[in-house]
Amino acid sequence: MTIGVLALQGSVAEHIKLIKSVNKKIDVVEVRTIDELARIDGLIIPGGESTTMRRLIDAFGLFTPIRERIVAGMPVWGTCAGLILLANSVEAEVPYLSVLDVTVKRNAYGRQIDSFVAEDDFNGMYINMVFVRAPMITRVGEGVEVLAEHDGNVVAVRQGNVLATAFHPEMTRDNRVHKYFLGMIDAKE
Ligand code: GLN
Repeated sequence: MTIGVLALQGSVAEHIKLIKSVNKKIDVVEVRTIDELARIDGLIIPGGESTTMRRLIDAFGLFTPIRERIVAGMPVWGTCAGLILLANSVEAEVPYLSVLDVTVKRNAYGRQIDSFVAEDDFNGMYINMVFVRAPMITRVGEGVEVLAEHDGNVVAVRQGNVLATAFHPEMTRDNRVHKYFLGMIDAKE
């Protein structure tokens, strides 16, 4: 199994470390080119700054190749900024990849200084959820499964092969959400 982490900007190394902690035999590729994208069985779009990532994905010619692979069924997981890029509706902005039927509102939990960690249930597992200038999911479409809520807000969703979390599991030492994503890829193979 080969996992790709989109490596244009953001928390790339943290994701790689946690995937390796699940099983060091899993190949992890930093994705910056179309060739690298073609080699992977699943893609993680990390947290970072979604406006910067949009520009870099466009500049590297990766928008259409990434979108086509997701539409064709490749498992993808967006954390935080990654969630914003996957959503088909972004309040006050034009959406980007539009492969996940949710609306998000950027920076809705406040500024960097308002970052927080909460413990809550993700699909039956209590995990630490790290929120850093996180987007809020303000609408969930019909075909979208809610995997986690915190304080009355939806914070993790799945629609078929698309997983998205408003928080950052890669900023903890707990690899169970990574295991969940790897399970999505296993189920497909
Ligand atoms: N605030 C960032 C954005 O809007 C997301 C923050 C993050 O990924 N930690 O893109």
